[in-house]
Amino acid sequence: MYTQNPVFIPGPTNMPEVLRRATDLPTIDHRSAAFADILQPALAGVRKVVKSENAEIVVFPATGSGGWEATITNLLSPGDKVLAARCGMFSHRWIDMCQRHGLQVDTVHSSWQQPLPLAEYEKRLFADKGHDIKAVLVTHNETATGVKSDVGAVRRLLDDAKHPALLLVDGVSSIASMDFRMDEWKVDAAITGSQKGFMLPVGLAILALSPKAMQAAQSAKLHRAYFDIREMAKTYPSSGYPYTPSVGLLNGLKMSTELLLGEGLDNVFKRHARIASGVRAAVSAWGLRLYAQEESSFSDTVSAVETPDGFDATSIVTHAAQKYAVAFGAGLGDVAGRVFRIGHLGSMSDVMALSGIATAEMAMADLGLPIRLGSGVAAAQEIYRNTAASAIRNAA
Ligand SMILES: *Cc1c(COP(=O)(O)O)cnc(C)c1O
Repeated sequence: MYTQNPVFIPGPTNMPEVLRRATDLPTIDHRSAAFADILQPALAGVRKVVKSENAEIVVFPATGSGGWEATITNLLSPGDKVLAARCGMFSHRWIDMCQRHGLQVDTVHSSWQQPLPLAEYEKRLFADKGHDIKAVLVTHNETATGVKSDVGAVRRLLDDAKHPALLLVDGVSSIASMDFRMDEWKVDAAITGSQKGFMLPVGLAILALSPKAMQAAQSAKLHRAYFDIREMAKTYPSSGYPYTPSVGLLNGLKMSTELLLGEGLDNVFKRHARIASGVRAAVSAWGLRLYAQEESSFSDTVSAVETPDGFDATSIVTHAAQKYAVAFGAGLGDVAGRVFRIGHLGSMSDVMALSGIATAEMAMADLGLPIRLGSGVAAAQEIYRNTAASAIRNAA
């Protein structure tokens, strides 16, 4: 099936034509100099996008979840204790993966409507005088709930507690769309995938690792074979790869970072913030609420919208797909059926967002919700016409 409609799922995201074309390469010999011209700019570009001077960028043929696995198996040892909060479907799944690798997860169970519970992290870090906690996990942006957390605040807690734990951050739905400051926050491992902020097909797990993380990888004892960051780091300086690289995707990654840096990271983040505020204005014009409770934690990449009690939110997703060929995200895990999600990250413009808002209105009205057609669109239009930056710049 082919449709020209954009998707409004929080990944995979819409692909700009220029990036689709960049991934479509004739076969090249990845041991030739031509590969160096792809790999090196891709790595350097990612380093800039995560705002780091000297992070080791490692790219595996995998997805974001593969990035979780690579992070924990390279940096930790069996039985190591890690601190994590279960505050959404993605943090839940990361915790599950840690447990399956034999890590001891000190899990904070917290409200899915709230950001990461800093006070609880603080308590546990300060109580851990023996430094048993080897790593602290943070999901920067919970894609299931549209709640973002404050990574910098976790860094401050670690510093205040003089705690040496590694700071591992899932940035799969934030990196390249929302501000991410690897060096300033002293993040030890930042994880993302190709199919979200980088606007590419799925297929790459992208990691940024601090010198401290690379050091930890030397002595970590969990089994790793295919996902060995040491082997990657060893071969990269000569533009080698431990196995056959996904050359087309890497060329896409090089091009994607050129697009993002060409637009300017600040402009990329502002564009996401502006589009998100239009979506939020639409949601309140509909008389609905976001699942996220605190304004300071509203995500700029995905909005989870609560539907009235007794209404199956997933029916909106199913109906919009069947009748209008437009994809929204269903609620996951604890919020299945209670929310539907509007993804607004990656290659997204004001005009595209308006089409998604309009479609959501039609679907909800079709299903009998008391939505006045045009109400959300009008609310978003007011935001966009008052804040629009030059559209030309985003037209790539
Ligand atoms: C999409 C996503 C993942 C999983 O990534 P995959 O590429 O599907 O493996 C993990 N964490 C977050 C926050 C995500 O949005």
